[in-house]
Amino acid sequence: ADQVDVQFPNAVVDVHKTVQQVVADFRMIHPDFTFTLDDDLEKTTFVRMYRNHLEQVMIILMDNAVKYSTNRKEIHVSMAQSSGNGVALAVQDFGEGIAEKDRRRVFNRFYRVDKARSREKGGNGLGLSIAQQLIESYHGQIEVDSALGHGSIFRIDLPTITEAKAKALKAQEEAKQAAAPKSDTT
Ligand code: ATP
Repeated sequence: ADQVDVQFPNAVVDVHKTVQQVVADFRMIHPDFTFTLDDDLEKTTFVRMYRNHLEQVMIILMDNAVKYSTNRKEIHVSMAQSSGNGVALAVQDFGEGIAEKDRRRVFNRFYRVDKARSREKGGNGLGLSIAQQLIESYHGQIEVDSALGHGSIFRIDLPTITEAKAKALKAQEEAKQAAAPKSDTT
């Protein structure tokens, strides 16, 4: 029998749906921005993780992209098949960018590049460390590419599962729910 562990729960997320939803939310919340969604995925793509975890990571990246976009109010989101068995997601902005010396440290807890300036923008310097912990706990990777003054691109790579595996996990989860005593969780 399949064992349940924290890293790989019997939860399956449809990457398409989730990313589209988050982008739609941001279009609504930030009507002054242009959000493009470049979808190169050939088929429905599933990752074995909690949906709210993928949502949270996308929200952190997109919220930063908005916060640190100084001149051009444009954000590019993309999804594509990655080399091997994975999905590659990217959030790109054309804002202030991150200097090379700061690039690795932005994932550290409480690290903020410009303490005084970023204080005005709010935040604690926790977002990216949370995003990194979540992604790595699902055996994925997150990295940043940036050019100071020109913008940044955050890339995520997550291992995917086949549609058959996704269906099997969903069925298993539904059977478990049906067998469990009724609770008021929805
Ligand atoms: P919060 O805890 O609300 O997310 P935060 O944005 O300061 O606050 P992180 O998301 O962890 O925290 O980001 C850490 C730092 O990395 C930021 O303070 C900022 O200096 C830099 N940073 C993050 N994203 C970008 C981006 N898209 N462009 C430029 N700098 C960024």
